[in-house]
Amino acid sequence: MNLFENFFQDIFNIKSVIMALITVGLITLMMMMTYVLAQRTVRLFRPYTIIVDLLEAVIVVGGVVVLRQTFLVLNGGSVLSWGYAIAQLMVLLFSLYAMQTLAVTLVNLAMPLIFYGASLRLGASPQWWWLFAIMTVILFGVIIYISRHQTLALDSEWRFLLLQLLYGLTWCLIIWSVRPYHLFYMVNVLVIFILYMWIIRFFVKRINQVIKHLSRLSQAANYDELTGVRNRANFDTTTVGVFGVYRHHPTKPITMAMFDIDHFKNFNDEYGHLAGDIVLKHVAQHFNQELVRQTPYGELFRYGGEEFVIIFEDTSPADAERAIMAIQETLKQHPVHLDNQKLTVTVSVGISALQPTDLNFDSWFKRVDHYLYLSKQGGRNRITVEDQNGQS
Ligand code: GH3
Ligand code: MG
Ligand code: MG
Repeated sequence: MNLFENFFQDIFNIKSVIMALITVGLITLMMMMTYVLAQRTVRLFRPYTIIVDLLEAVIVVGGVVVLRQTFLVLNGGSVLSWGYAIAQLMVLLFSLYAMQTLAVTLVNLAMPLIFYGASLRLGASPQWWWLFAIMTVILFGVIIYISRHQTLALDSEWRFLLLQLLYGLTWCLIIWSVRPYHLFYMVNVLVIFILYMWIIRFFVKRINQVIKHLSRLSQAANYDELTGVRNRANFDTTTVGVFGVYRHHPTKPITMAMFDIDHFKNFNDEYGHLAGDIVLKHVAQHFNQELVRQTPYGELFRYGGEEFVIIFEDTSPADAERAIMAIQETLKQHPVHLDNQKLTVTVSVGISALQPTDLNFDSWFKRVDHYLYLSKQGGRNRITVEDQNGQS
């Protein structure tokens, strides 16, 4: 009975109520931030998604630290409480399910090691080190499994329960290895932990559905259905941003390249519209893949029909020309396979950098279009680049 009283005094007191409210608040805040970050990630260029990943890890670490500091204050400098332990485990396991990034997984992996190190420093005995080692290995397995199969684990009830039990149990035994306690507590902690996490699971599932729905909407609004590259609407918003960047950093060159498939109408006329679609898709995807290989600063858009635009940030026209020339070469080596035939596709290109004299986007775009026209006039399958003086 004494054990019961102890446990319930620890769990049901005003401090624990405050802790519970803070934990719920923290998790709600984390949910909202994950949601906002996920929306941003869909719109960002590739390198920035790494920053978003790190931000999520900072949010988790921040949550753990806030919880600890609050409890230290509430509990007169001690963190020995089951209510506190459950709150921390909930924040950590929640982050694993809701934030699907490597950095958050690493934070979860680091926690048992940090906990063990801190406990030893505070005078705990290392005599159960082997139990700690075994439990940490199992916990690592659980963490890695969850981070790789979030949706699977969230969707199946028994799998979620099993993983949660393993997560809670290994953590309980890790805590036991430095501060042995009566096993009665472990059963209670696990029951409470499981009950709370089921409520959270409900919300995480909902949030994940909303995020998926939003990214599908964003995909449909910003990417071309046929070719999979960014569409005209995305191009229009990107160019507004590009103009802003140029105004703040006028010394960094921004180059636009426009290309158009040569005699594309012939593919349609000879092999049919569907074959034309295959050619379009092939060219767009080839350019998209090779562009990533050539430069981290180029982004491809389908402007319309068989015309595409590439915006190169921090790239001179000469560098853009070099990249596109290399892609033109590999495009020739990768013809379209159609009805046992190999169709070689070529493109004509116009390139120009944004100039200080460009007061609006149209004047820049018209120049690029003009150089593309010159490439067509000059016999197609070629690049026309504007030189420093605005000449080609
Ligand atoms: P040029 O070398 O001068 O560019 O000749 P071209 O035949 O490529 O140019 P033209 O502008 O005469 O023809 C472009 C054709 O592209 C006309 C249009 O029917 C076709 N087209 C535009 N969008 C699509 C599409 O999504 N799918 C298919 N299959 N054809 C398309
Ligand atoms: Mg064409
Ligand atoms: Mg055209």
